[in-house]
Amino acid sequence: MNEKEIKTWLLEVVHPAKGSQNIVELGMVDAISLERNKVAVTLAFPKRRDPLTEYLVGATKATVIRNAPEGTEVEVRTIVKEEAPKKKPGLDLGLEEINNVRHIIGIASGKGGVGKSTVAVNLAVALARLGYKVGLADADVYGPSVPLMTGTEGEVPAAEESGEGKEVILPIEKYGVKWMSIGYFAERGQALIWRGPMACNALKQMILQVRWGVLDFLLIDMPPGTGDIHISLVNDIPMEGALIVTTPQPVALSDVEKGVNMFRNENINRRIYGLVENMAWFTPEELPENKYYIFGKDGGRQMAEKYGIPLLGQIPIVQGIREGGDSGEPAALSTRPDALAFLDLARTLAEAAG
Ligand code: ADP
Repeated sequence: MNEKEIKTWLLEVVHPAKGSQNIVELGMVDAISLERNKVAVTLAFPKRRDPLTEYLVGATKATVIRNAPEGTEVEVRTIVKEEAPKKKPGLDLGLEEINNVRHIIGIASGKGGVGKSTVAVNLAVALARLGYKVGLADADVYGPSVPLMTGTEGEVPAAEESGEGKEVILPIEKYGVKWMSIGYFAERGQALIWRGPMACNALKQMILQVRWGVLDFLLIDMPPGTGDIHISLVNDIPMEGALIVTTPQPVALSDVEKGVNMFRNENINRRIYGLVENMAWFTPEELPENKYYIFGKDGGRQMAEKYGIPLLGQIPIVQGIREGGDSGEPAALSTRPDALAFLDLARTLAEAAG
């Protein structure tokens, strides 16, 4: 590996807001240095607060790590070329883009695979069907699924100047909902290696530097789990409260407990709107009246009672929900009984939020 070779790897890093141009042809690669097994890349940004700074730093790092021999240490620094940064360096995000949002609600789960994203996407569509203005920010940095679940994969959000040399990202609109996802800026799998503060800053940009406009609800599809990234997200985004998604099995109880404790932690202290029991029962498409409690009955109700939070909704396992996720047409758009479960959940949440 040498500097020249590293530069050819960087041709893969495309600036999403600049057509298909990569950071090398855009003249953003200011310096590459190589010392033993340590690579340092310096990216030059022409203006302060490019909305994609964190994204490009992450993508550059990911690309070098992917191409370099194992064990290589990679550091990516940024400098501003034309305009000297005046105030504090680093992330400087204001709250002005979310000033006109009435309710910001996190969709959380103690662990992955319980259907958190499925619930978030369908809840957003259901709220829009009820006439609310809705946005959804997919903050699941480890597996952004909104582009696939909404059939918006491959779309690239535009950026727009918003005065003071600051740029904002425009959300993708479909099914009456404004969508934003880190997945729109990353190649498949690439986001997976983002960790810690870098992932966290990129996530905050995907929420705070987006032109949401006037909204009744902004749902945040949070990453699964209850770690530092969650605490930082809840602290920096004025989230009013959260929904916790779970499946009814007894083994899910300890994950729900972690979620509840996180939001009740004295440093966070946010309202928990309630629990959503996903996969509450199985209903075959051809026998819509039949309910098979394959993960046990009343698990969600018992968990909700144990932690003193409302059971806001129960969503059955239905083939159409899975198919809707894979085909990009959320089940909540349909008139089938499973869509009603999401509409009921949307109504209950809207009532609770007031
Ligand atoms: P998470 O966001 O918690 O990781 P996902 O929403 O990605 O989970 O769901 C995991 C898988 O389970 C997806 O394939 C999804 O389509 C499927 N799934 C989730 N909820 C249901 C449901 N109620 N009925 C059928 N399939 C579901």
